Amino acid sequence: MELPPPACPLASEVRPWSGQGPLLIEPVLTTASSAGYSSRLKTTPAGWPHRKQWCVWVEPVTTQGPGAIWQQRWHQAVQAALGTWQDQLPIHLVTEPLRAHVLVERRRPPLLNNRASNGRALLQLREVRRDQRWSLEPLVTVLISPGQAQTAIQATSLHELGHAFGLWGHSDHAGDALAVKAGAVPVLELSPRDQATLKWLQEQPGLTQADQPSTQP
Ligand SMILES: [Zn+2]
Repeated sequence: MELPPPACPLASEVRPWSGQGPLLIEPVLTTASSAGYSSRLKTTPAGWPHRKQWCVWVEPVTTQGPGAIWQQRWHQAVQAALGTWQDQLPIHLVTEPLRAHVLVERRRPPLLNNRASNGRALLQLREVRRDQRWSLEPLVTVLISPGQAQTAIQATSLHELGHAFGLWGHSDHAGDALAVKAGAVPVLELSPRDQATLKWLQEQPGLTQADQPSTQP
């Protein structure tokens, strides 16, 4: 029996996607999408930025020193949110950023249009070579501010990780993890609408590469 390939191979070469224009665009929907809030999701010019499995790197935290307790609480909250997504998707935690599609960083997002936020997800598309094969991949940097209550960090992480795993849009229902506005009660679980939207997304065609880049050095 052949061994399965490693889940999160190291990237040996990376280059930016050569496509032009904005990365997130309105989809041209060929089928009626009634699942959850799928009609509110954006796609990319290269296709839906989802994957069959995800490799996630979380910024390491210190276990000693004066700030250690806060760093560990941040880490626990992020891990709890990841655990909730792991019930829906194959997600592997990696210790090297070059193995990851999602990088979770412990820092406050910079102001955007003069407004502060506790979390942000930033999407790039890249051509990546792993195990001698090139493919087009999403790379998502997720910024989670440490300056929040632990349940707020968990709710922020659950929301931003939803974007990272391909849900580039917002729900108009307050009880959904991807709600456009956080309600008074932090959402720590995925609603049936969140799950239905993710399931719909996973059934869409994924990223396609127009031209296979040369594998010559
Ligand atoms: Zn959002």
